[in-house]
Amino acid sequence: MDPTFDYIVIGAGSAGSVVASRLSEDPGSRILVLEAGPDERVIHSRAPGAFVGLFGTERVWPYASEPEPAAAGRRIHVPQGRMPGGSSSINGMIYIRGDAKDYDDWVAAGCAGWSYAEVLPYFRKAECNERLADRYHGTDGPLSVVDVPYRHPLNAAFVLAAQQCGYAFNHDFNGASQLGVGYFQVTQKNGERASTAAAYLRPALARGNILLEIEAEVARIVFEGRRAAGVTWRRHGQVRSARAARAVLLCAGTLGSPKILMQSGVGPAAHLRESGVEVVLDLPGVGRNYQDHLQVLNYYRTRRPISLTGQDKGLTALRNGLEWMLFRRGLLTSNVAEACLFADSDGDGRADLQIHSFPVFVPDHERAPPEGHGFTIGACDVRPRSRGEIRLAGPDPSTPARLFSNALSDDRDVARADSTYSGSYPAASK
Ligand SMILES: Cc1cc2nc3c(=O)[nH]c(=O)nc-3n(C[C@H](O)[C@H](O)[C@H](O)COP(=O)(O)OP(=O)(O)OC[C@H]3O[C@@H](n4cnc5c(N)ncnc54)[C@H](O)[C@@H]3O)c2cc1C
Repeated sequence: MDPTFDYIVIGAGSAGSVVASRLSEDPGSRILVLEAGPDERVIHSRAPGAFVGLFGTERVWPYASEPEPAAAGRRIHVPQGRMPGGSSSINGMIYIRGDAKDYDDWVAAGCAGWSYAEVLPYFRKAECNERLADRYHGTDGPLSVVDVPYRHPLNAAFVLAAQQCGYAFNHDFNGASQLGVGYFQVTQKNGERASTAAAYLRPALARGNILLEIEAEVARIVFEGRRAAGVTWRRHGQVRSARAARAVLLCAGTLGSPKILMQSGVGPAAHLRESGVEVVLDLPGVGRNYQDHLQVLNYYRTRRPISLTGQDKGLTALRNGLEWMLFRRGLLTSNVAEACLFADSDGDGRADLQIHSFPVFVPDHERAPPEGHGFTIGACDVRPRSRGEIRLAGPDPSTPARLFSNALSDDRDVARADSTYSGSYPAASK
């Protein structure tokens, strides 16, 4: 007979780690957490500046879109974390909430309960901010938020140059306004990445009522009628299953969650039937409305050899590695994207461009970076209009889903990307 838990959490990523931790506060609850990837406690995830070493490994899902018609047929790579902590174990650690009005727009679109005023108490509850304590910031939560501990001279030059161009310095991108230039705060603790696994899940495991199964790839949610009664997964070639007495919580990320739902028979009925999946519930919205922020990378050469080029090689790499291992200090505490300019390109008072400064030529997934020293200005459109969708490729759960991101299919996204490419940035907000 299958084991029974009160709750089964699918995916131990950003959401899953927090949800499992919160549920485990009730000592009477038994929680099973299923995570497809391996243990996250490896140096490339723990040392903030080393995360690039995770790409191309088993700890990152190699998701990619179908060839995109509006992006010259390119396949857009969408890496996602595949280990406890999920994408918070590979991400840039930037602590950023978005614009307050983004949340109010969700309410206007029908998502009751998600206005900025309603979510702000939860941000404050989550946060342990080392510098800020005010109506926007908390200091008692499990998630450590610190000023970026390392500042590269090229990022400092970017912050200064933007101010010389008239952009205001912003000391808190999560405060009254996002607009302006400054340094990020990052989710780190004592020089290490503070993923949700480190901040929530690992401490919660000590309570003894969570069973974390890693390398367990969920195939389906098992329905009894309309009720999610259990889950089946595959671990080291074996199919296993468990029952949930109270709830199944699906936290497998933007691509993983709709895939699992559709594999389980919940989604657009016609698509499920053509994919060979029996329909449990016809929900046309599943897998739709995909959106992502593309980044336009502009490269600039430096006259002097001061960029990060070569820092990952030879004696320099050894020195950086030792400094981090012995003192949790130095270059390896950098999240590389230390500084940023939030700009308003359409004049509505909200930032729509997140312009990163990187003190190195950042590799693009389809082209090698230039040789030598230089820096990258990367502009993200934070409110893209293009919408994509996720579709099953067949009934077998081990077959990757198909992503049609439709990147740049809306002309307004092309215009915004183009404006940053040509370097004609929006007027400064003084
Ligand atoms: C490279 C990168 C950089 C980023 N930088 C930043 C940043 O600096 N600041 C910021 O705020 N945001 C950043 N983000 C975004 C942020 O990390 C994500 O929005 C967030 O982590 C998503 O949380 P989630 O819980 O939805 O998914 P995830 O954290 O991705 O968790 C999903 C989990 O489900 C697991 N899973 C999926 N399918 C299955 C299955 N079938 N069975 C079992 N488990 C499964 C995955 O392995 C994963 O652990 C970045 C993201 C990436 C990829």
